[in-house]
Amino acid sequence: MYHLAEGTALVRFEAVIGVEVHAQLLTESKMFCGCRAAFGAEPNTQTCPVCLGMPGVLPVMNRKAVEFAARTGLAVGAQVRERSVFARKNYFYPDLPKGYQISQYEEPLCEHGVLPVETKEGGIRNVRIRRIHLEEDAGKLVHAEGYVGENESLVDFNRCGTPLMEIVTEPDLRSPRETRLFLSKLRQLVRWLGVCDGNMEEGSLRCDANVSLRPEGEETLGVKTELKNMNSFRGVEKALEFEIERQAGILAGGGRIVQETLLWDEARGLASPMRVKEEAHDYRYFPDPDLPPILLARGRIEALRDSMPELPEARKARWIASYGLSGYDASLLTEDRAVADYFEELVRLTGEPKPSANWVTGEVLRTLNERKTGIDRLAARPEHVAGIMDLIRRNAISQSAGKKVFEAVAETGEDPETAVKRLGLAQVSDEKELQDAARGIIEANPGALKRYLGGHDKSFGFFMGELMKATGGKANPRLANAILKRLLDAKKSHQNMEKTT
Ligand SMILES: [Zn+2]
Repeated sequence: MYHLAEGTALVRFEAVIGVEVHAQLLTESKMFCGCRAAFGAEPNTQTCPVCLGMPGVLPVMNRKAVEFAARTGLAVGAQVRERSVFARKNYFYPDLPKGYQISQYEEPLCEHGVLPVETKEGGIRNVRIRRIHLEEDAGKLVHAEGYVGENESLVDFNRCGTPLMEIVTEPDLRSPRETRLFLSKLRQLVRWLGVCDGNMEEGSLRCDANVSLRPEGEETLGVKTELKNMNSFRGVEKALEFEIERQAGILAGGGRIVQETLLWDEARGLASPMRVKEEAHDYRYFPDPDLPPILLARGRIEALRDSMPELPEARKARWIASYGLSGYDASLLTEDRAVADYFEELVRLTGEPKPSANWVTGEVLRTLNERKTGIDRLAARPEHVAGIMDLIRRNAISQSAGKKVFEAVAETGEDPETAVKRLGLAQVSDEKELQDAARGIIEANPGALKRYLGGHDKSFGFFMGELMKATGGKANPRLANAILKRLLDAKKSHQNMEKTT
């Protein structure tokens, strides 16, 4: 909420935000040709006459891309159209050799979805998805690199023709923070579905945002501006904060907002005008005559719906209800599908949801963070963790030794019992051995014994520490505690008997 003085009255303004997200689809090949779509190859090594827009070529639609976009639509409860159409969006730019981009305009693949986001106040904001459509990406202009001369630009066509899914929301977001949460939610979803890797740094997820201000309670939308060139969620949030401040300043001074596109400059922390925003008619959209409409029979759409994986929100709710997990743990464990599957497998093996959740949110996620790697690359699989949990339950190792065993197994992938032996971490649960050690310690420390018998209960901790030290930290703590207590209590009653006689 933004407060502006208008005349003498104080007017509360609210921000109205919508986003357009471009998600690069994880297909092997490009949208309309057989070229590889992978990121990071040598410039201009993944091209062919089709994606270079040579005369006489014909595009052929990538079926996988259609399936991926349809799955995304189903995941947000959108309608997947049985018939949708590719259109040409005409504009000239050096990275677009055809002179037009194949996109979808009047009849997109999906429409009318909703993605709920938890707001800061703890409520739910239902962000409506206006449409999800398919299009091809343009190439990339390179200017700022050392090998590019002054006043010179190079072009890399590898990205040209890569499949993109554009997700357009209604202007339902109300703050920069909420927008960031929405984007995280969307990224979680596309990664969960395996349709996009969600990597903003490599440009496989890009976000443009539009924002306007209006007096609170007003239904009519104010004039909006569009923000481009943000390459992180934090960047989107910062750009929106900047732009809302700027618009508020203009409105406060009685000025008017000009509809325009602004480019976010991350380094300088400001957005400046790029060009006057094109209207749709500037692009002269028309149905692409080279491509037939996408026809998806009802049965095909229903089959896709039936093959959808359990989505993060559903899985989270199930775990809270049937595993008794906290909302916090359930959220953490469903952030990434591979982590969620790992946890689910661990619960299946141990039958203990809560301790399993502690292991995954604790040791497993910490290790992944430290190594900056994915759970698929972790040598410690659910069966290893289940093995470690079992060793602890059987008192064969202590809780802290369990963590050391996990560290070792995460490195080597060896059997936990092998790691226990190799590292000499087996817990001393031999009663006789512990009793002898405890006796020795009590005898060796008459001063501490005197204090303990004199009523200084804290001396017990001293004996416990000594006993752990004597066993190299491997004493079964519960057993060690019981044995020490028994021996010391015996001394105490012996002393009392002496006093009374
Ligand atoms: Zn190609």
